[in-house]
Amino acid sequence: MVLPSMEAKTENLKGKQPVVVIVGHIDHGKTSILDFIRKTHVAEKEVGGITQHIGAYEIQRDGKKITFIDTPGHEAFSAMRARGAKVADIAILVVAADEGIQPQTKEAILHIMKAKIPMIVALNKVDKPTAQPERVKDELAKYDVLVETRGGKIPSVEVSAKTGKGISDLLDLILLIVEVEKLKSDTSDQAQGVIIESNMDSKRGPIASLILESGVLKEGDIIGTPFCLGKIKRLEDCWGKKIENAFPGQPVSVLGFEKIPAIGETFKVFPTSELAQEGLGKKEESVPFLSPTQPDQKILNLIVKTDVVGSIEPIEQIIKTIPQDKVFLRILKRDAGDVNLSDIKIAETEKSLILGFRVKTSDVIMEAAKRKGIRILTFDLIYDLVEGIRTFMEKTLASETIRTDHGKLEVLVIFRTEKNRQIVGAKVLEGEILRGLKMEILRGGDLMGHGKIVGLERDKREIEKGVKRDEVGILYEGNVKIQEKDILVAYDEKRQKIQL
Ligand code: GDP
Repeated sequence: MVLPSMEAKTENLKGKQPVVVIVGHIDHGKTSILDFIRKTHVAEKEVGGITQHIGAYEIQRDGKKITFIDTPGHEAFSAMRARGAKVADIAILVVAADEGIQPQTKEAILHIMKAKIPMIVALNKVDKPTAQPERVKDELAKYDVLVETRGGKIPSVEVSAKTGKGISDLLDLILLIVEVEKLKSDTSDQAQGVIIESNMDSKRGPIASLILESGVLKEGDIIGTPFCLGKIKRLEDCWGKKIENAFPGQPVSVLGFEKIPAIGETFKVFPTSELAQEGLGKKEESVPFLSPTQPDQKILNLIVKTDVVGSIEPIEQIIKTIPQDKVFLRILKRDAGDVNLSDIKIAETEKSLILGFRVKTSDVIMEAAKRKGIRILTFDLIYDLVEGIRTFMEKTLASETIRTDHGKLEVLVIFRTEKNRQIVGAKVLEGEILRGLKMEILRGGDLMGHGKIVGLERDKREIEKGVKRDEVGILYEGNVKIQEKDILVAYDEKRQKIQL
């Protein structure tokens, strides 16, 4: 016999509209796949209605709905998770079949595993002649991603966002997982979920996009995140159409927050405003002073400014997800509000980069920053912020010079000496020397200076290369005068971009 209360409970447990997140390395085709699905599964008239980027969209397949988070990148996804929000039910790991596993693929795998959600591997770009999906599957096995054809349980599908091949199989796999995993949500529970996007509309005020984890949301509900309260004035589906109720998994926009809630914040519906008020968190100001964990790490100091207090923590969490083996990101100050002169002052003394999320920088501030050589980077989207920091880390800090020694010579005779040039005769002691290489001048083991091999000859003939035991003539240009018996070390230097 089923007790009446249990019966009611089971009735409320409905199949959940699955929320899918697409992760993987940059340029492997996440956006292209999302675009292809949207183009082929959303009617033109619906798309036409969109005026706002709400961070997710839904499609229908075989009468069933699927939600796609369309801010690709695992940073936003993991930041949401870090705050206890469970937003995605299924992850699609996109790997370009012509490139295979790349650094962000590995990060994405770790994030999916930590989230403990089912994954589907999409081997993309199979239209390319250079695609080697089978090789990628072998590679994935090394990272504990065992796909079905390799004896594992993880479904994989070959796709092309360019031709559309395999995309419908991918969607079928999503629906299959929903069935196999018995994804359910309880509509009788207190409504709660996560903010996935937010912005300020000049006419309509703060707008938040959110996805419900359980319960039902309706107009008039009192809603609160740890930092922000509101009463729902209007609910819209992801195409901007007014709706009465929102159900778990469905991406919706909410009007009626008193300020902009931060992305990744969890929300709940409360019976009264008093109870919602109690749920409001306290602003945390102190920033622990952290040190690099590895001796050869470079440090990038950051001053983080956000539009609202509630954004500080998620932004910080997102910054923490950026790999820091090579460059350590140290947040010196974090604060809500526009960039001000005190930020510039700290940035100057502590040599920091100022990062602004949805904040303004006045002309006065820009001018002051320019004068002092301080960089201010501002972003409106989390995804851009992460990419911006990564690019900054790679370009400005993370290029290093790799030196390769080629050979060593001993100076036998000085033929001629001009202002900063000399012609010297030397014997190659080891390795080989080439025209154009740089040289280090050593005297009695001490470094005297540096120069360059501008010309090279043997037996009065120009040569490209001298090898061990050759006696060669060198046209040298440099900042010190070479003397007899000096040791010259020929080397080259290459700037190498560090993979973060
Ligand atoms: P994301 O950074 O992972 O979002 O990658 P994008 O979707 O922006 O794709 C990066 C590049 O790869 C773009 O130039 C796309 O046109 C291209 N691309 C994406 N998918 C495919 C595909 O299936 N086949 C081919 N040939 N190119 C693709």
